[in-house]
Amino acid sequence: MADAEVDLFVIGAGSGGVRAARIAAEYGAKVMVAEEFRIGGTCVIRGCIPKKLFVYASRFRDEFEDAEGFGWKIEKTSFDWPALVAAKEKEITRLSGIYRTNMTRVGVDIVEEHAVLDDARTVCLTKSDRRVRARYILIATGGGPVLQPKIPGSEYAISSNEIFDLPVFPQRLLIVGGGYIAVEFASIFARLGAKVTHVFRADNVLRGFDDDLRSNVAIALRDARIDLRAGILPERIEKSDKGLDVHLSDGSCVEADQVLVATGRRPNTKDIGIDKAGVELNKKGAVIVDSYSKTNVDNIYAVGDVTDRINLTPVAVREGHAFADTIFGDRPTAVSHINVPSAVFTTPEIGTVGLSEQEARKIFDIVDIYLAQFRPLKATLSGREEKVMMKIVVDGTTDQVLGVHVLGHDAGEMAQLVAIPVRMGCKKAEFDATMALHPTAAEELVTMRTRAARYQRPREQRAAS
Ligand SMILES: Cc1cc2nc3c(=O)[nH]c(=O)nc-3n(C[C@H](O)[C@H](O)[C@H](O)COP(=O)(O)OP(=O)(O)OC[C@H]3O[C@@H](n4cnc5c(N)ncnc54)[C@H](O)[C@@H]3O)c2cc1C
Repeated sequence: MADAEVDLFVIGAGSGGVRAARIAAEYGAKVMVAEEFRIGGTCVIRGCIPKKLFVYASRFRDEFEDAEGFGWKIEKTSFDWPALVAAKEKEITRLSGIYRTNMTRVGVDIVEEHAVLDDARTVCLTKSDRRVRARYILIATGGGPVLQPKIPGSEYAISSNEIFDLPVFPQRLLIVGGGYIAVEFASIFARLGAKVTHVFRADNVLRGFDDDLRSNVAIALRDARIDLRAGILPERIEKSDKGLDVHLSDGSCVEADQVLVATGRRPNTKDIGIDKAGVELNKKGAVIVDSYSKTNVDNIYAVGDVTDRINLTPVAVREGHAFADTIFGDRPTAVSHINVPSAVFTTPEIGTVGLSEQEARKIFDIVDIYLAQFRPLKATLSGREEKVMMKIVVDGTTDQVLGVHVLGHDAGEMAQLVAIPVRMGCKKAEFDATMALHPTAAEELVTMRTRAARYQRPREQRAAS
């Protein structure tokens, strides 16, 4: 017999789970949520938030250097890693507390332990050995880092989970992986003073982003003295008196204090009783759902990274909210995953929304490209060698803006705002008709009048698609 009965059981109190639990409870549902680590999940505890705090910390180096061009004399600076880690811990604990309060305030019952599905209507709390019957179950267990490739000595490597709390600052850091998490940490640690070697399998970082952005961000990473090595992977890690010897596929060996492997993440679907409930997974182990986040089992839903749709916090939050609206608010809501803006918090950062040039050229018959590269005003006095890059991708047939890509300071902020017109299907002519705000970098987005390139698909390809 069950120890409790609820309308909704949520497994995982991360971005998606917390939002779903809170909104469902606000609609009057009796909700229980299980969390095995810390309330707030990846984003709050070991993802977006602590990472962005570290990004801010890393950017002071440039600010100190740049200040001289503006008349400041900065005598001596030093960086205290334990102080940063402690300040970060204080802030994420505060945020975790807010998440907890927001749930308890509306009557959500929080249980802090591992939960597994016993069958399609029962969740088992493994530590207290309790069983809870639920009308609906939401799987919101997120994802976790995968340490790949498995090589001799990979037990000495760490993932992004550990990097936030290293007791000692890694003076020599080797990073493996070409995705956004890897490049962000390369940019952060190089600016905090580490000697960073960054290796990855592909010919450039950030696969899937616009190619011009990728090339320019690689230049910026090299300018930050990061030793970027494309097409190279570690083959063996050995412990030595001085730290770790990392033997690479090109025959070289790099000495490091830490090896950060950021080669990918996997949905958390192991050990949660997926089979017992009969929930279907795809080949990557992600829960298969429809646009309402419903699985193949009628009363079981899944949101966030565990479904491996777009693995970003606002997406998980939106999916969790839509689920609660659909089931408990009598407002069926499907989530659109089109034109989701995203950022890469390197320095300078990337902000992007919509199709890359390469994607657009595969889909549309005529694609127009507007491109601007310029030195930001601040760099004229700071003397810093840096460039801002902006690209607008336009459907040459209808004039609709398909994508906007920015590399430069505050590019993430720009991408958030420009995502609105892009989502609305705005035409390039409407960008042109918008008054510029001077002097800003973003004004370039409405003053790019001259087409940099037009690509027309050959007639035979048009017929084929
Ligand atoms: C280093 C890093 C940087 C990132 N930066 C960004 C960023 O800048 N912007 C952005 O939008 N996204 C970013 N992300 C991605 C973002 O963190 C995730 O997309 C988001 O947290 C997904 O939310 P979720 O609810 O699906 O899962 P999570 O937030 O991962 O929450 C899942 C929760 O479930 C718990 N759990 C798992 N299994 C069980 C179980 N059986 N029983 C009980 N509890 C369980 C976990 O402990 C976890 O707390 C980053 C991720 C990483 C790793």
